[in-house]
Amino acid sequence: MSGRDTVQCLEDPIAFASRGGRVEGDLDVHSLTRLQDLLLDDRGTLSYRLTGRLDELRRPRLKVAVSGILVLQCDRCLERMDFAVALESEVLLVAPGAAPTDDDDPDSPEWVEAGKELDIRELIEDELVLGLPMATRHPGEQCGKAGKSAQEQDKVPASGTRQPFARLGEWMTEQKKRN
Ligand SMILES: [Zn+2]
Repeated sequence: MSGRDTVQCLEDPIAFASRGGRVEGDLDVHSLTRLQDLLLDDRGTLSYRLTGRLDELRRPRLKVAVSGILVLQCDRCLERMDFAVALESEVLLVAPGAAPTDDDDPDSPEWVEAGKELDIRELIEDELVLGLPMATRHPGEQCGKAGKSAQEQDKVPASGTRQPFARLGEWMTEQKKRN
């Protein structure tokens, strides 16, 4: 049950891009289900802007710009870390079944299969998952100064894994059990 979420779709995305269309909107952070494991807090919204164009080869492209704040957890001190999202990427839209054959080419653009409609939230979620840093840490001296008590930090189980989000996931599961 998604309550106030509305699935935002772009109708006929290839035509949209070909005519240079532009659309803007907001997404609730909590609706980005694939990001939930990374988040310390899922409140707030992200703003997006999609801009279409035809490239030099007259292929439809969609520029994706996303901005806002995601509340992550610092991998080092485990405190809250506000991560400013400033994502800008561009994808090539291809008709179903027309996937580029030169996909091994590192210079080939990222592409998305675009049928009758494109799920904007899914597209943005994909771009965010690709664009988020693997290790989230406060820069230098700011780390460890966010102000939770040492006692609370002691609750965090020590772990040798080098995967920050895996460890965060374990920790969040642990916290849910406690509550
Ligand atoms: Zn830190």
